[in-house]
Amino acid sequence: MTTKVFLVGAGPGDPELLTLKALRLIKAADVILYDSLVDRRILALARARTRRIDVGKRCGKHSASQQAICDLLVAEALAGNTVVRLKGGDPTVFGRATEEMLALQANGIAYELVPGVTAATAASASLGLSLTKRGIARSLHFLTGHGAEGGLPAHDWVALTKSGGTLVVYMGGRTLPGLAAHFIEAGMPAATPAIAVENASLPAQRIIRATIAILPRAVQEAGGTGPTLVLIGEALRQDSTAILADITTRAPALASEE
Ligand code: SAH
Repeated sequence: MTTKVFLVGAGPGDPELLTLKALRLIKAADVILYDSLVDRRILALARARTRRIDVGKRCGKHSASQQAICDLLVAEALAGNTVVRLKGGDPTVFGRATEEMLALQANGIAYELVPGVTAATAASASLGLSLTKRGIARSLHFLTGHGAEGGLPAHDWVALTKSGGTLVVYMGGRTLPGLAAHFIEAGMPAATPAIAVENASLPAQRIIRATIAILPRAVQEAGGTGPTLVLIGEALRQDSTAILADITTRAPALASEE
């Protein structure tokens, strides 16, 4: 039997957003290496004897280094275990999947990617809004708000602004003030709709609707600590897009209890 490691997307949190394939693999795993964003209710779907190892990395907190995670993946696979590497959202969207695939390749271990619902599409569902809109938003851009040194990455702010597409910023909670300032300086109208979605798909979900000029302050005042996605663009305009920030807290209707 050839050894294979499964790099599996766990989706944004709500267990109902897992794929059937992810569920099958979670149930078949001998060992699951999971990130901090993976919901407990999803880990609870594994068999009792499955080892669950937290290799989570959340900004600023001490956790396993990427090298240590790669080494562990390789060691568990070479020991003959069925290994599931479970990542929040989709493994190929800001998920460090490349480092892990390279380490597996270097050790002659086969792997398979299993896609998951990424935070951007989970947030659009939470908002009840389409990320693309005919004639208004013809492109969709996934950006990181977190550069290598902890600050903002060097995006082409003018090109992104000119694109007129919907901009979705992952890991942008901390750098939002700088991000908004760059976009406005690049010519983005201050009244452009901008929305932050915290804990998309989870019972603790919060939505902060504002404009690009106002959102940084609104997010800061809301003081959230959960994973937050920032969406910017005209596709997000609603009749109710108020000039002032509007904060709603809403638990998804179908959230199952633990
Ligand atoms: N691979 C993941 C992204 C990992 S980067 C995916 O495809 O979704 C981590 C960032 O994703 C967080 O900082 C946040 O911006 C976003 N994110 C992940 N889960 C989220 C959720 N449930 N709600 C809002 N944002 C989320």
